[in-house]
Amino acid sequence: MEPQLTPVEMDHWLDFTCHPEIPCFNACCHDLNHFLYPYDVLRLCRHLELSSGTFLERYARIHQGPETGLPVATLRLDPVRNMACPFVGAAGCGVYPDRPAACRLYPLARAVRRCAETGRRTEHFALLQEPHCLGHGSGRRRRVADWIQDQGLVPYHRMNDPFVEVIAIKRRACPGPLSLAHSQLVGQALYDLDRFRARILSRPGGDPLSASATECERLADDDEALLTFAYRWVAALLQGTARPGPGMPVG
Ligand code: SF4
Ligand code: SF4
Repeated sequence: MEPQLTPVEMDHWLDFTCHPEIPCFNACCHDLNHFLYPYDVLRLCRHLELSSGTFLERYARIHQGPETGLPVATLRLDPVRNMACPFVGAAGCGVYPDRPAACRLYPLARAVRRCAETGRRTEHFALLQEPHCLGHGSGRRRRVADWIQDQGLVPYHRMNDPFVEVIAIKRRACPGPLSLAHSQLVGQALYDLDRFRARILSRPGGDPLSASATECERLADDDEALLTFAYRWVAALLQGTARPGPGMPVG
């Protein structure tokens, strides 16, 4: 059977379940092309109690997307264990409470489109049926909307969807692939939040990229607020209204 992708609406009934007794348990945690969004990294760092720099070094790769040149983060798979996700073990996912959005969503896939005229975002879902996954047709029925709630996806979508704005701004303000230097700046802001925090807090109110002194107080210990600020910062950078400042990689 070839993988099938079927568009579904929020009120579509999913007939799917996944549990440790199923024969394919953990099959989906190998040999994948696992993209990480900024909020995925934030949550995994928190779960593993690692700095963002250490997490990226150990578990991720960041490269430039071929079309936009924007940074793309992926999980580093383990070639010794049949290209396993670094977090999968015999008992399943070792980071389950903070697993990435794509893992929560499976067997669904989600695309976010942004209307160029209005800026309005719309989300679209599809059901992915792959030969290795035996969770379909189990008799456990839930609507797509309930699956999204049950899997704790709401904060993930809220914190990751601004990436769509970043892509739109990039396309509008900087046609062609981004330079490596700018891509690294964007990557540091969105994925290496500890380093970004240190940078921002070291110069409050200094230039259009900087947070105000009041904002800095919040950004000092609120990771979600920092990521939200990072999206604004990246937007300003791409629109040319911001300067990288000393200590940032500019190539
Ligand atoms: S993070 Fe967890 S659920 Fe996702 S691929 Fe890795 S082990 Fe599997
Ligand atoms: S392959 Fe499907 S049913 Fe099997 S563990 Fe993965 S998600 Fe669950």
